[in-house]
Amino acid sequence: MPTADALDSALDVLRQYWGYDELRPFQREAVAAGLNGRDSLVVLPTGGGKSLCYQLPAVCQEGLAIVVSPLIALMKDQVDSLRECGIPAAAVHSALPPAERREIADDIRANRLKLLYVAPERLCTERMLDFLAECPVSFIAIDEAHCISNWGHDFRPEYRLLGQLRDRFPGVALHAYTATATEAVRRDIASQLNLRDPDVIVGLFDRPNLNYRVVPRGDLWKQVTDVVERYRGESGVIYSISRREVDELAERLKRAGYRAVPYHAGLSDVDRHRHQDAFLNDKADIVVATVAFGMGIDKTNVRYVIHTAAPKSVESYQQESGRAGRDGLPSDCCLFFGTRDFVTWRKMQDQLTGQAAEQALVNLREIERFCTGATCRHRTLVEYFGQTYEGQNCGACDICTDPTALLDDALIVGQKILSCVIRVKEGFGADYVAQVLTGSKDQRILANGHDQLSTYNLLGNCRKAEVRQWIDQLAGQGFLEPTGEFRVLCVTPAGRQLLKGETTPRLSKRSQAAPAKASGSRRAAVADFDVALFERLRTLRRELAEARGVPPFVVFGDVTLQDLARRKPRSLEEFLETYGVGEKKCNEYGEIFLKAIADGEDSAPAAPAVRGPESPGDVKPPSSSQLAADELFRAGRSIAEAAATLGRAESTTRQYLVDFLERDGRCDPEPWVSPEIFTQVDGAARELGDFRLKPIFDHLGGAVSYDQLHVAVACLRNALKSATSGNTMGE
Ligand code: ADP
Ligand code: ZN
Repeated sequence: MPTADALDSALDVLRQYWGYDELRPFQREAVAAGLNGRDSLVVLPTGGGKSLCYQLPAVCQEGLAIVVSPLIALMKDQVDSLRECGIPAAAVHSALPPAERREIADDIRANRLKLLYVAPERLCTERMLDFLAECPVSFIAIDEAHCISNWGHDFRPEYRLLGQLRDRFPGVALHAYTATATEAVRRDIASQLNLRDPDVIVGLFDRPNLNYRVVPRGDLWKQVTDVVERYRGESGVIYSISRREVDELAERLKRAGYRAVPYHAGLSDVDRHRHQDAFLNDKADIVVATVAFGMGIDKTNVRYVIHTAAPKSVESYQQESGRAGRDGLPSDCCLFFGTRDFVTWRKMQDQLTGQAAEQALVNLREIERFCTGATCRHRTLVEYFGQTYEGQNCGACDICTDPTALLDDALIVGQKILSCVIRVKEGFGADYVAQVLTGSKDQRILANGHDQLSTYNLLGNCRKAEVRQWIDQLAGQGFLEPTGEFRVLCVTPAGRQLLKGETTPRLSKRSQAAPAKASGSRRAAVADFDVALFERLRTLRRELAEARGVPPFVVFGDVTLQDLARRKPRSLEEFLETYGVGEKKCNEYGEIFLKAIADGEDSAPAAPAVRGPESPGDVKPPSSSQLAADELFRAGRSIAEAAATLGRAESTTRQYLVDFLERDGRCDPEPWVSPEIFTQVDGAARELGDFRLKPIFDHLGGAVSYDQLHVAVACLRNALKSATSGNTMGE
C-alpha cells in the first residue's frame, strides 16, 4: 500500500489541478493501486470517475503513463481536459500530422509529458514498442478494457494485441478500467492482459442520480416530447432500434423546433462526425440514434436518455442509459417499450448461431423481464450485476415513486389470468387471452366456444389493454412463457406455484392508455441556484469553448457552473474554491467569469443615471412562471413563500420579484424590505452616487443581504425613473 502520505499528497495534487476536494471511495482504492505499482482491474459504472484513477497517479509519479484508448474522439477530449487543467498530455493517432508527432516524441524524450494516449493497434507496432521501451514509463492504463473480451458488448480485435504488454514491459504495472460489470468479462480481461495478481476494485453499480422510468409505449410522440420539453435547451440522447425510426423522429423533432440531429451507421462518415460534434459542442441538444452512437461519448451533461423501444439486453440498457448524468446531477432515463420490440430484436438477431444465438435470447428474455417487471429499477439493475441494493425505496424510479401504481390484489388477478391460459389449453397468445378475460364477442372466441368458459369475462371490469399488460408482466416475471412463432402462452412451474397461492406477482395499475406522469417536478425542486445566471454562464462557456476549439464540458462541467450560480464568488480566492476549478482554470477563466457574475448582480447602471426605456425588441414577454409569481407578489407573499408555491429556488424567485417590481414601476419595496432598511440603502446609494450592489453592500458593512439590496435598488431605480421622466415631460 502507498503510505498515507502518498495519498495525502495526491489529494493536494487533486485540488491544485482539478479543483476537486476529495476522491470518491472507490477512486481512492484505485488511485492507491496506481500509486503502489500493483496491477489492478477497476470496474466503475459510467460517471464513476475512472479517468481520474489513472490520471492522478500519472501526475503524482515520475515518468510517463501510457493510456490505451479505443477512439480518437475519446483521446482528444481527455487530452483537452487535461491540458485545460494544466497537465501536459498528448495523444498519438492516425489523424496527427507528422510534425506534431515528432514534437510529441521530443516531449517524451525530454520527459515533458505526463500522459500519452494511444490506440491499441498503434501502441503495439514494433516501432512504438521499441521507442517506449527506452522511455521511463510509469505505468500502462487500459481504458474501456472490456473491448478485449468477446464476451462483452464491444469486442475490438485490436485490443487482443495488448496481451503482449506484460512481457514487453515486465517491470511496469498494468491497470485495466471498464464499466462492464459481468464476472465473465472481468475474468477474461485479467487473463487476456496477463495481469499479475491484480487488485480488483469493483465500485457500486447504482447510479442514484438517475431517475428511471420504464413504461409501455403509448403515444410515443407525446411521451418523448414531454421529456424533451422539460429539458429544452439541454442535452439528451434518444435511442431507437432502426435507422428509419431515427431519421423520422429526428426530422419531426426538428420541425417541432428542437435542435435535433440523427446518428446511425447509414449516414456518411462526414455527417456522423458533424452531428456528433454538434452534440458535443452544445450546438445540437438532441441526438436521435441507433446503438451505433455512444461509445466514446464522454459528454458529462447529458440530462436524459430516452429509449423509444426496448434495448437488446440489460447490459446494453445499463450502458446506454448510463450516458445520462455523468456529472452526478439528476437526470432522467425513460424507456418506452412494447412487446413488439422483443420480436423485432429476435428478427434482427436471426443470423446468429450457436452460443451467440442462445446468449442473445437469454439477454432478450432478461430485458423483457426488466421492462415488464414491477420491482424497483435501481434494485433490479444493481442485483442484475450481482450486487445487493440497500434501502427500500429508491425515490427515483417509476415503481418506487408511485406505489399506488401497484395492484393490491395482484395475486388474485394473476390467478385469474393463469387459469384462463389453462382453460384455453395453453393454445393461444396474449391478445386472445386478454379478449377472453374481458368478455370479447370476437368471432374467433365465439367459434371456439370460449365464451362458455368459467374464465370468460372474469376480468370484465378491466380494459383489455390493461389485462394485456398484466399478461406481459406475468410473462416478464416468469409465470407465463410465450412459445413458438405465435407466442402461445404456457404456464411455467413458477406459474403453477402462483396458482396455488405460494407466490405473488407484482402487477401495475398503469396501462398503455394512461402512461405514468412524468417526474418533472424533481428537477425544478432541486434548482437551488440562480437559473438565469446559470444560463448566462452556459453561453459564456460555449463562446470560450468555441474560441479554443474544445467541447464546452472541457472548459467547465455543469456542476461547476451551477456551483458558481449558487455561490456567486466575488474574488479569485472565492472562485478557486468552486467545485472543479483548479489553479490553471482559475488563472485562465477567473476574471472573465467573475465579471459575468458581477454583471449579473449589478443589473443597475454604474451611476444613478437612468437608462432610456429599452427598445421594445429587447423586452421579452414574461414567462408563465413569472406571471404566476406576479400574482403571488401582488398578494404580498414573501420570496420564500412564493418560492415554495412555485417550486423554484429562492434566488430565481427573487429575480422574479425584481422583474415584477421593475415592470410594475413600484417605488415602495414593502413588504419585502422594511422602511428602515430601504432608507439605509437609499442613503448609501446617494452617498456613493452609485446603484451597483457591491459598493452599497460594502458601504453598509454587509448588514443588508443581497436579496434585500436587489429589491431595494429596483425600487430606487423606479423612483428615479419616474422622477426623471416627469422632468422630461415638464421640459
Ligand atoms: P467515467 O469515465 O468513469 O465514466 P469520468 O472519468 O468521465 O467517469 O468522470 C465523470 C465525471 O465525474 C467527470 O465530470 C469528472 O470530472 C467527475 N469526477 C471524477 N472524479 C471526481 C471527484 N473525485 N470529485 C469530483 N468530481 C469528480
Ligand atoms: Zn425504485
